[in-house]
Amino acid sequence: MANKRKNNQRPLLNAMQLKWWPWLLLLLLLMLPYLFFLREAVVAPAYEIPYSEFKTLLKAGKVTEVQLHGEAATGRLSAPMPIGPQGKAGERFKTRIPAFGDESLLPALEAQGVEVHVGEPKAAGGWFAVVIAILPWLFLMGLLFWAMQRASRNLSGGLGGRGDLQQFLRGATRKAEVPHVTFADVAGQENAKREVQELVEFLRQPQQYRKLGAEVPRGVLLMGAPGTGKTLLARALAGEAGVPFYSISGSEFIEVFVGVGASRVRNLFQEAKKNAPSIIFIDELDSVGRTRGTGLGGGHDEREQTLNQILAEMDGFTGHEAVIVLAATNRPDVLDPALLRPGRFDRHVTLDLPDRNDRVAILKVHIRKVPIAADVDLEHIAAGTPGFSGADLRNLVNEAALLAARERSKTVTMQHFEDARDKLLLGSVRTLAIQPEERHRLAVHEAGHTLVAYFVPHADPLYKVTIIPRGRALGGTQQLPEEERHTLPEEYLRDRLAVVLGGRAAEKQLLSSVSSGADDDIQKATQLARAMVTRWGMSEEIGPVDLRESEEHPFLGREIAQPRRFSESSAQAVDTAVRRLLSEAEQAATDIIDSHRAALDTLIHRLEERETLHREEIEQCLAPQERAAATATRDNLPQG
Ligand code: ADP
Ligand code: MG
Ligand code: ZN
Repeated sequence: MANKRKNNQRPLLNAMQLKWWPWLLLLLLLMLPYLFFLREAVVAPAYEIPYSEFKTLLKAGKVTEVQLHGEAATGRLSAPMPIGPQGKAGERFKTRIPAFGDESLLPALEAQGVEVHVGEPKAAGGWFAVVIAILPWLFLMGLLFWAMQRASRNLSGGLGGRGDLQQFLRGATRKAEVPHVTFADVAGQENAKREVQELVEFLRQPQQYRKLGAEVPRGVLLMGAPGTGKTLLARALAGEAGVPFYSISGSEFIEVFVGVGASRVRNLFQEAKKNAPSIIFIDELDSVGRTRGTGLGGGHDEREQTLNQILAEMDGFTGHEAVIVLAATNRPDVLDPALLRPGRFDRHVTLDLPDRNDRVAILKVHIRKVPIAADVDLEHIAAGTPGFSGADLRNLVNEAALLAARERSKTVTMQHFEDARDKLLLGSVRTLAIQPEERHRLAVHEAGHTLVAYFVPHADPLYKVTIIPRGRALGGTQQLPEEERHTLPEEYLRDRLAVVLGGRAAEKQLLSSVSSGADDDIQKATQLARAMVTRWGMSEEIGPVDLRESEEHPFLGREIAQPRRFSESSAQAVDTAVRRLLSEAEQAATDIIDSHRAALDTLIHRLEERETLHREEIEQCLAPQERAAATATRDNLPQG
């Protein structure tokens, strides 16, 4: 027991020492001037007397010795001081001589036969002032030193690093190992794997290529949305070829001091060349590789120096080293063009979001270590997760396992996956006190979306509808495409608008009022209609003209504003066309609701009862005869 405690305490103590000693040093530094002050107080004369008194003592012949230091004078008395309780023979005193001098002083001293010593003029305050002057610098240096210690320690992974300056400049001396992952761990991404396959061969037998004089691309840029497996692929490439993997992340360069990043790049390349064949991987290249001259810190900031160093190192290859430089980014659009020039990152590999089959494959990779129940259907999960990246899918599996663990279930079931998916897509279930009439309105709204989605001809199949609040939403209707869609036909988009506005239309028809619950729907519908008009030429008024005011980012999925390049009258025409699309869609939704009132009522009732309805339950409510009726009315609906 005692033994055990001792073992536990030691690392703790180490940690404390490491953490506290810089502070102790600082404290000592701060105390230094006070120590000097103390010394002066102890050794220096006890009395400071007025000059007039000094003259009186001098005239009385009581001064035996005087030292002059510019404007200050110290001296010794021959007899006890006439005034003051402590005056003794041999006592030291101190006085100040007027700055303009006293012509009578020297003659007076001579007349009394006083021993006169003349010393250097003393700086005001002496030592004390000197220390005060350098104190801020000492303090800053201490802080700097401390920061370096910390940064270096962080990089070398916890408390193990010794953290001297040398090491800080070199960066953490990562032990470059051969990663354990191989291409088998990268599911899907067949294109990307094929593109880099050649590099594997080269790294395995560089001499073979050298003999034939074949040149292999030096720099490869991996591009793709976050979580598509860029880092994974780079590591797998090294693992597959069995060569050491030197990696550094662009954001690590944005450290503290100018020049450190460049120094680290130099060392990284040096190490990699020494251990060739090898791979250098620069993750998040965009954080150092943004177009130069746009940085905030003037022309020569840290980022720019680091980038220049990378370029210089890549140019410095003689063509014989078996070193491949990989870099990853999700913002290829902001990269400095110099990085993409021949001889640098001239081979580009794009990683896409996985399609349905790839999602199944990725799920298979990640459930290898998870006990899966027999009812789990990976195909179904993959179908329900369009737009998920590899990282999202890994997260999904983990989330499902967490839910299973919380329930102390032995295996992870389909229900766990279903809940995990909803949690990731919509947020956690919210406990929210909803009043009965509000809940009814919610059911009407969601049933409206569902009914319209069911009866319009070109919509995606329904997945589920719920009135359980999650995340920011109070309820939700989910549809899922059968297959991934790469282009969106106009009929599909018009029906989509009707579905989105269906919730509001149902509220209007059944409760004869609308609510703020349709806020998000209106925004979504307007955005979609605007895109149809300004980007895809789907309105008669505008025709095939690009009138967009923002540009969609290829990997980030968000819009980047652009300056407007068209006239005010075009803008007005766009507004009119958008409004027409929206009101047509609302009319279509209202028509469907009016002609299927009975089915809608059943759906609302069932939804209030069960809170969540899955595809089959929805179909049960909207009975087959309704469906037949729908086919009849469908021909009367306005079509795009
Ligand atoms: P990126 O660097 O593109 O942002 P990562 O390589 O860091 O993405 O991916 C994060 C994690 O997601 C990986 O560690 C891996 O577990 C998982 N992942 C991503 N893509 C795949 C894939 N194609 N196959 C298997 N797992 C993947
Ligand atoms: Mg990454
Ligand atoms: Zn809605």
